[in-house]
Amino acid sequence: MRVGNCVRCAANGPVDRHHIKMRMEGGGDEDENLEDRCVPCHQYIHATPAIKEFLEHERRHGQADRIVVAQLRFDRHEEYNSVEQIRLRGTYKSYWEDEVTHFLPLIEPTPEIKEWRRLNRNKRQRENRAFDKKMAKAAKEKKC
Ligand SMILES: [Zn+2]
Ligand SMILES: [Zn+2]
Repeated sequence: MRVGNCVRCAANGPVDRHHIKMRMEGGGDEDENLEDRCVPCHQYIHATPAIKEFLEHERRHGQADRIVVAQLRFDRHEEYNSVEQIRLRGTYKSYWEDEVTHFLPLIEPTPEIKEWRRLNRNKRQRENRAFDKKMAKAAKEKKC
C-alpha cells in the first residue's frame, strides 16, 4: 500500500494512484500521468464526470424540472465532497444520501398531457379487450 499526501486535500495516509488521463483514453503509467489521492478524493474525481454529464444533458434538453434536479445533484455532490467536508468526515458521500435529489418535482399536467393520457387509456382498454377475446377463443378451440 502506498502512503503519501493527497493532491486534493493534502491528507497524509494511504493513497491511490489516480490516472489523470484515464487508461481507456490512452493515459499511461508514467509519473506525469499519476497523482496520489486519498480514497474519498479518488472516489470524488471518478464520480464527477457522470454527474456533470447528466447536468449538461438536461440543460441541452431544456426541461426545467429536470434541470433543477440535475443541478441539485451536482451541488450536493460538490458540497458533500468539498475538501473541508472530506477532511471532517474522512469518507466520500454520494448525493443519493440526500433524498430530495431522487425525485423530480411534481408538475401539474398540461391539457396536452391529460389528452395523451386519456387516449392511451382508451387504447389500453381496446388492447385488453382484444387480448381477452383472443384468449377466450383459444380456450374454446382447445376444448373441441
Ligand atoms: Zn484527499
Ligand atoms: Zn483514478
